[in-house]
Amino acid sequence: MNASTDVRRAADWVRSADAILIAAGAGMSVDSGLPDFRGTGGLWTALLPAGMTERDVGSLTQANCFLEKPLAAWQFYGRALQVCRQCTPHAGYALLKRWAARTAHGAFVFTSNVDGHFQAAGYDESSVLECHGTLNFLQCGSPCSNRIWASDKLMDGIDVEALSPAGLPRCMQCGELARPNFLLFDDSHWVAQRTSTQWECLSIWLRTVQRPVVIEIGAGTVVPSVRIFAESVRGPLIRINLDNSDVAGQGVGLTGSALDVLSAIDAALG
Ligand SMILES: [Zn+2]
Repeated sequence: MNASTDVRRAADWVRSADAILIAAGAGMSVDSGLPDFRGTGGLWTALLPAGMTERDVGSLTQANCFLEKPLAAWQFYGRALQVCRQCTPHAGYALLKRWAARTAHGAFVFTSNVDGHFQAAGYDESSVLECHGTLNFLQCGSPCSNRIWASDKLMDGIDVEALSPAGLPRCMQCGELARPNFLLFDDSHWVAQRTSTQWECLSIWLRTVQRPVVIEIGAGTVVPSVRIFAESVRGPLIRINLDNSDVAGQGVGLTGSALDVLSAIDAALG
């Protein structure tokens, strides 16, 4: 089967679905200008504070980084927040939204991305599940409660290299160091309540829909949360990836970037 046949098949599934489950990994954000995570040109390396090298990325993705290196951790994640807010979600978000508007039950998003780009692109907050949490909310580092609060403009216009220990974000309740509300490695302090509520919304939505199509976009294989979830949902799977786009079972693998492949499907939809 050639690529154009696969694209037409994907378009047919989108056309006949009554709902679209969007399962998005890091590859979805790349076309908005966010670099992928790993490697010398990757996002994590670009965010490192002065004097740290690629070797230090590992320690800044462990949960205890906010206890052991609070200043470096906030320089790293403060810049991540700035970068995510500066990037505009690419046109693929709007294409998916338009396709979903033609279905009876619309779209639900399952994503490992913490950049909040689906909400920034106009997706309803109640139709998004961020399985690893989000940069857009903060929580207490201890944590003293399940309370979270919006990070909003916290880092806008701030020179993160000039942050001082006394100027780091603090818990609104107890005054301990605050941290972003997303899941790090070996993280027993992540406040998961928001994501748990999102799981409940997704479960209800999945019980409502009859003929969902699953569109998995840019989902990695190193931390395969998005792939595992996408494969667990009934309905045909459209897997869009630069590599590793093979699909077992009912589905089609489309090799390419998120925006290129979504645009090709949109053209086939007419
Ligand atoms: Zn606290």
